[in-house]
Amino acid sequence: MPMHGDLERIYADVLARNPGEREFHQAVREVLESIGPAVDKHPEYADAKIVERICEPERQIIFRVPWEDDRGAIHINRGFRVEFNSALGPYKGGLRFHPTVLLGTVKFLGFEQVFKNALTGLPIGGGKGGSDFDPKGRSDREVMRFCQSFMTELYRHIGEYTDVPAGDIGVGSREIGYLFGQYKRITNRYESGVLTGKGLNYGGAQVRREATGYGCAFFVEEMLRARGETFDGKDVVVSGSGNVAIYTIEKVHQLGGRVVACSDSSGFVHDPKGIDLELIKDLKEVRRERIGAYAEERGGEATFVTDRSVWEVPCAVALPSATQNEIDEADAAALVRGGCIAVGEGANMPTTPAGARVLLEAGVSFGPGKAANAGGVATSALEMQQNASRDSWSFAHSEERLRDIMIGIHARCFETAEEYGMPGNYVAGANIAAYARVAEAMLALGLV
Ligand code: NDP
Repeated sequence: MPMHGDLERIYADVLARNPGEREFHQAVREVLESIGPAVDKHPEYADAKIVERICEPERQIIFRVPWEDDRGAIHINRGFRVEFNSALGPYKGGLRFHPTVLLGTVKFLGFEQVFKNALTGLPIGGGKGGSDFDPKGRSDREVMRFCQSFMTELYRHIGEYTDVPAGDIGVGSREIGYLFGQYKRITNRYESGVLTGKGLNYGGAQVRREATGYGCAFFVEEMLRARGETFDGKDVVVSGSGNVAIYTIEKVHQLGGRVVACSDSSGFVHDPKGIDLELIKDLKEVRRERIGAYAEERGGEATFVTDRSVWEVPCAVALPSATQNEIDEADAAALVRGGCIAVGEGANMPTTPAGARVLLEAGVSFGPGKAANAGGVATSALEMQQNASRDSWSFAHSEERLRDIMIGIHARCFETAEEYGMPGNYVAGANIAAYARVAEAMLALGLV
């Protein structure tokens, strides 16, 4: 898509200042391609160089994480925290532990997070962090030692009014527990609001574990409603089988859809009668097995496929919930051929720009991650709210709050797209609505 002239210059500058950070470039480009009309409408933002400032993180922290494995061998990993934008509230965003994590990965995620958090309407800024540590195949004690070493540096940069990390790929409730324990030990403070995604018996919130997946299903339900459709009786494909994927499957089933395939990095399983979620939960949350074990335990009901893309399975709704750039142009074309009418991004940036173009041109309702997966961070903000008031809400109340927030995000994207003459374009709606909220706050706070 052509970019507004000033934005083209700003983008060239981003490329020059952040060489080699491909995913960060992609995330910035997607936003800058959308916000031209808002930039024209508000020259006062341009005068204050708001876009240039939004593209530059407020602070980037990189640190060494030394730790010892069970055999006594020493490992050195790299830790990151990018505190991107705090105009709307303390930096907020997850930690990712995965061997592919580089500074550019964390910057792309942090940049997306600024806009996502703005869309929730809640008082949270954007940040992200992580490490190139791979928890896969590590014992609980090794993971604990790594988390303790990671927090021994990170603790000085975070706080409930400063920066509040949470989980992401490779960081679930086990890791959050170890991280919180070390923070508490070092600071001698039971500061519950410093991390979210905590266990329910030490300051965690109901529905946080389920929130990203449930929220994505609620968002897609709204996109379907806008087309006069529902989940009822529809076949759905979900990628991944981690936190987001599992709770997406759970809510889709409750809303009447049937998830027929899910995956991990080794391949996908196709179960035409519907995924047995209890089995997936047992394999992934308890036994930490690979997805192929699902097909073995389902006997002849399901097949395990390693030589094709999960997006070749025909479906009405696709919910990518694994990682970035997992739907390319060919995958998007396969989805359209298979009858797909809606895609909701549970993961962050799972669709490549060329893939997104194919979906939009085919009239598929396309909910970008910063809108569709914002339920996780929104519920994290609710966890902070409960920690601050030393309260804890019921599951039903928390889920109702989440649903209201997702309906609100959908309405904000939908109405903004209409207002700017791009009806049904949730990418434009999300980017413009979020940009306007962040820009307004930055303008009010002066040149900081
Ligand atoms: P998990 O670690 O719980 O699960 C990730 C899943 O995706 C696993 O099944 C994993 O398979 C698969 N996966 C990861 N990397 C790859 C890869 N390179 N290729 C293929 N499959 C891969 O992470 P989450 O469920 O928490 O996160 C999933 C996505 O959702 C991420 O994009 C994350 O940023 C995003 N997200 C998460 C939120 C949350 O609340 N957790 C909030 C908002 C967005 P395997 O085990 O084989 O690696």
